[in-house]
Order: sequence, then C-alpha cells, then structure tokens
Amino acid sequence: MKLQLSELKKFRQYLHQNPELSNQEKSTAELICKKLTKFAPDKIIRNLGGNGLAAFFQGKKNGKKILLRCELDALPLYENNDISYRSSKNNIAHLCGHDGHMAILLGVAEKLAKNRTSKGTVILLFQPAEETGEGAEKILQDDKFQKINPDFVFALHNLPGYPKNSIIIRKNIFASASKGLEIKIFGKTAHAAEPEKGETPVLAVSEILEKLSLLGKNPFVETIQNNSSNDFQNFTLLTIIHAMVGNIAYGTTPGYAEIRATLRSYLENDLQKLSEKTLEIIRNVSQKNKLEFSFAWKEEFPNTKNDLDATKKVIDSAEKLHLDLIRPENPFRWSEDFGHFTHKFKGSLFGLGAGKDHPELHHPNYDFPDEIIETGIQIFGQIIQNTLEK
Ligand SMILES: [Zn+2]
Ligand SMILES: [Zn+2]
Repeated sequence: MKLQLSELKKFRQYLHQNPELSNQEKSTAELICKKLTKFAPDKIIRNLGGNGLAAFFQGKKNGKKILLRCELDALPLYENNDISYRSSKNNIAHLCGHDGHMAILLGVAEKLAKNRTSKGTVILLFQPAEETGEGAEKILQDDKFQKINPDFVFALHNLPGYPKNSIIIRKNIFASASKGLEIKIFGKTAHAAEPEKGETPVLAVSEILEKLSLLGKNPFVETIQNNSSNDFQNFTLLTIIHAMVGNIAYGTTPGYAEIRATLRSYLENDLQKLSEKTLEIIRNVSQKNKLEFSFAWKEEFPNTKNDLDATKKVIDSAEKLHLDLIRPENPFRWSEDFGHFTHKFKGSLFGLGAGKDHPELHHPNYDFPDEIIETGIQIFGQIIQNTLEK
C-alpha cells in the first residue's frame, strides 16, 4: 500500500504557513478534524482540554488501547526562513515541528483507514498547548478523557542534531522537569538625586542574580564553585531569563524590580530542593535590604519518565525497521509536557532524528524536514503492531 506522502507533505507545509499559538489552535483543530473524518474513524472526540481532539480506530476484535500523541500549537517566535510556505503570521511560527508531528499522525490515520488492526483500539490524540506546559494536564483533567484509559501511550519528537530517521530513546528519564519563576520586588521610588529617601532594589537584584546563577549542579557552576552542588542528587540548572529594574527615567531612583528564571532538573526531588533554595535566597536578600517580594511559578513541566515495557516496544520496533538506534547517556535538559501522560500511564517518549546539522528547535531558521514523515509513520505503525497484535 502506498501512502499519499506528497499530499501529507503539502498538508504539513500548509500547517506551517498557518500556525496558531498555544490555546488558540481552533482552525488547526478544525482542519485536522476534517482530514481525520476522511479516514472514517469510529469516533472523534473534540474540544479535549481546550482545542484538542482524539480519533478512535477500533480493531476487528477487542483488545488493548494504545494512544499516540502529537501537538497542535506553534510558538510566539519570528521565522527567518526563505521558503514558499513561510509563516503568514507575524511572530507566530511552527519552529518546533509540531506541524510535522501532526502530518505523521495523519499518515498513521490513513494507514489505519486502509488496514485496521486485528485487535484493540488505536487513539490518535492531537494535543493543544504543549509549548506552555498546560495542554497535557488539561486533557488528563477533561471528563471526556476519563473513559479512555489507555494501556500504553507513545509520542515522538523530531530532534535536530541526530541523523535523519534515527530513533533516539532512553529508559527511565528521557526529558527534564522544569518550571518558570516570576519574582516581583517592591521598594520605594525616590528622586535620582536623593536615593537615600527611597528603598531601591538595585543592590538586592544584583546579589540575587549572582547567587541564583550559581545555584544548581550544572557544568557552569561546577567550574567556578563547588559548595552548593553537593546538595543535589543529579543535574540541576537555574537560568535567569529576564531582569528589570525601574523605568527608563534618568531622574528616578527605582523602587521596583522583576526577575524571571527557569529552573530545571532530571529528578523531581532535585527540582523541589532547587525551588526551596531559590526562594530562600530571595527571602534572605530581600529581608536584608528591607524589601518586600512576591513570587509565582509558571509553565511547570514534570520530567518525562519512560516505562521499561513501553520503551522496549519502541526499541524492538526500531530494530525491526532497521533504523539507527541512539541511546543517549543522559536525559535531555529540555522538558516536554508528555511527562504528565507517562506519570499516569505506561508510556514512552522518543526522538526522531531531524538531521545532524539541522537548525535547532525554536531557532528562527528551523523548519520540519518532510523527509522524516515516512519514518515517523512507519515506527508508529510498528509500535501499534508490537502493542496490539501480540
Ligand atoms: Zn517546542
Ligand atoms: Zn515541541
């Protein structure tokens, strides 16, 4: 059976040209729904955890349920590609390849339409809001999802830096846990000529920035200090992503500041410890400088822990298809909200090589390589077989 690959590629490029941000994927979901309907699934559930949708393909007999996930959302970033299907929207672009992941799942749908499994059910899930870390959790909390209860869940992510069509897999932890932190520091504004009449957060901010940058057990910290790194079991990293003091007003001593950071680690316990240490530093420095502060956690991702049994199915499938198998020594430092699924169900997230020299994910020159769509469909097809037919 020959899949309509050229049509899938065209469709992928159409999605690329018409990206939508997290939680705003209405037209994308509409379009996917229309395409899926052509493949006559037994049912489609819409508006799952927002704009998500799931299509069900029943086998000839009852059996296990396998769920495959892809993402609907694009990023609030500028695209710098000179391609005919470049994003038609300002500062919204599919720079993570979710357009390609959608095309792959549609390819799986087409395959199932032509040839249903002999047993079990395949559920194709198109998840909203992956980039903000909200979508997976919202799906899991949606009443419409409660009855699905899959036996296995799988997802792939294309990975630049690895040979095209290779499969990158890891037992246990695959991707890191992470969360954003927003800190607001309140002092008192004064004239620039009379800073002693105000309470400026300037020195506190510089102390906090330095102390937080040195927190964690990461290669950068270990080269310049090694006192705090023993507190963590494994890799931890705090990255300052934004800092701001006062306004651009030369006559003013600022009385307000904001700091934003992203905390990450392989292990959940380490992230908890890193969070506590971070807040302790902010509390101590603020108190010392007689400043008030508030904080809020943003975009929280759990780590993605791969189940042994599910991961073995991925490995067996890659071997069966004679694909290059790459087993990284360490988990990835980035996060994926698929972790919410693997914390609840037996599952595995794996990488699909996008090319050794391919621009990185979220980079302005990134564009999903259409040549790997076919491998994506094949590996999912094989995983379905390994899970349902045995
Ligand atoms: Zn992304
Ligand atoms: Zn992504």
